Amino acid sequence: MDDAHRPAIRYVVAGGGTAGWIAAAVLARFLAPSSATVTLVESEEIGIIGVGEATVPLIAQLNALLGIHEPDFVAATNGTFKLGIEFVDWGSIGNRHFHGFGDFGEDIAGLPVHQYWLRLNGSTAAPPLAPLDEWAMPWAAASRDRFAPNAAMKGEAAQFRYAYHFDAALYAAYLRRVAESAGVTRIEGRIHAVGRDGESGLLTHLALETGQKVEGDIFIDCTGFASLLLGKTLGVPFKDWSYWLPCDSAAAVPSTRAGRLTPFTRSTAKSAGWQWRIPLQSRTGNGHVFASRFISDDEAVAQLLDGIDGEPLAAPRILRFTPGHRERFWEGNVIGIGLASGFLEPLESTAIQLIQTGVARIVELLPDARPEPALIAEYNRQTTLEYERIRDFILAHYCRTRRDEPLWREAASLELPETLKHKLACWDASGRIPLYELESHQEPSWASILIGQEAWPKRYNPRAGVPPEEQLRTMLEQRRARLAEAAERMPAHDHFISRTCASDTASAATA
Ligand SMILES: Cc1cc2nc3c(=O)[nH]c(=O)nc-3n(C[C@H](O)[C@H](O)[C@H](O)COP(=O)(O)OP(=O)(O)OC[C@H]3O[C@@H](n4cnc5c(N)ncnc54)[C@H](O)[C@@H]3O)c2cc1C
Repeated sequence: MDDAHRPAIRYVVAGGGTAGWIAAAVLARFLAPSSATVTLVESEEIGIIGVGEATVPLIAQLNALLGIHEPDFVAATNGTFKLGIEFVDWGSIGNRHFHGFGDFGEDIAGLPVHQYWLRLNGSTAAPPLAPLDEWAMPWAAASRDRFAPNAAMKGEAAQFRYAYHFDAALYAAYLRRVAESAGVTRIEGRIHAVGRDGESGLLTHLALETGQKVEGDIFIDCTGFASLLLGKTLGVPFKDWSYWLPCDSAAAVPSTRAGRLTPFTRSTAKSAGWQWRIPLQSRTGNGHVFASRFISDDEAVAQLLDGIDGEPLAAPRILRFTPGHRERFWEGNVIGIGLASGFLEPLESTAIQLIQTGVARIVELLPDARPEPALIAEYNRQTTLEYERIRDFILAHYCRTRRDEPLWREAASLELPETLKHKLACWDASGRIPLYELESHQEPSWASILIGQEAWPKRYNPRAGVPPEEQLRTMLEQRRARLAEAAERMPAHDHFISRTCASDTASAATA
């Protein structure tokens, strides 16, 4: 059959949280209306999870793809800008370091800057160097509460990226408008049964409590932790990573905005987990991610409330999760996206990134309504690798700790996945990190976490010992000074927002 006579493919997206609306919006934008229809079913009564307020820079690509205008989007979602994550008390109590969206400068003689920093830092002949973070533009700006987009900067001061913090409920509503204007049909209703073809087992329709039947060819399961299609209907097993990632709960609470808007997320390690602080224009988002084996809900809530810097705006809400993922993300004619397919804890804000890359893979590997087994296998292979890489990176934050509480003692004695064991062995031997296929985090990110936590390698690469020490020190100090000067010229983050993308709600709330 030629393309002109092929019937339009009916995509049905089950669920209207961040995952559902991103999937629907991207499919509708990418597929010609003559070749596909996109219908999304969601239940207002069930609602969305409503957390997920910090992102990574990949989101800029999604925004560009969907034609989203940044100031409009930031204003509509009560958003702020994010240059990275400040880690407090990780590794040991009193430790503070920054994982920014940028590197430490151009390689010198083919070696990354952190190698030279390790050499000078180990030298006893001169005063200690400033923390490695100061050689990266994100921290130069973030430590001064400054922000300007990299496109507004020049040369080495432009060598960084940024992401956003936003209100998850406003974000889902914003994406809904984008998706509906791209042609997505939304149906309100609770799915109570799923129709399947007796022979092939493929899904045929969703049956709603209203009596409506929503028929489709390809079903995208975005039903959150319920995993209604991939998990409950198809029974795809869940690969549980609790051994490596012990946190299984979170207590979340919004609080009144306090002080200046920081252009970064803060993550503070606690006795049995860690606490996030996410600044929005109108309020601050706070949450305590914890391992329920080591602390009760009441204690976790008490620690959370103790660690917030404004007044709580609601009663803390407890959420439960199991870290891991479905053994297959795509089975038959069902593809799971978002929490329906898996979840790692939110330490590096990677869940929305995984939604984005999952949807991008659908567009790449699903040319028509007849999924090919080879392409399904490829989708599952790539997505599994991406999850494993992120798991290893998150685990690297935990496993080199020197904290002395039960959670941290256990984390330091875990039998690590072989992939991570190898990476850390290479780090220990020479301060380098080998990268594999489908890494989300490059070498500067690993160096930032490991050096930040003072997980020193036994030695640096001997080639870093070649340049004369004084010459090297001067060169590095000059870069640090140039970045600091460039950061001083940036506007304050607050001012940048109030000038370019202030939200109406935030102005009303603070008036
Ligand atoms: C504690 C915590 C903190 C997090 N922090 C971050 C973060 O900082 N950054 C980040 O990127 N991610 C974060 N995440 C993950 C993020 O929240 C999710 O990845 C994101 O919100 C997507 O959720 P979702 O759309 O998959 O599910 P949900 O938001 O739960 O949406 C599920 C949808 O399915 C619908 N649905 C379910 N059952 C039915 C039914 N029977 N009939 C009809 N509709 C149904 C619901 O109504 C809803 O519309 C965090 C998660 C947790 C648990």
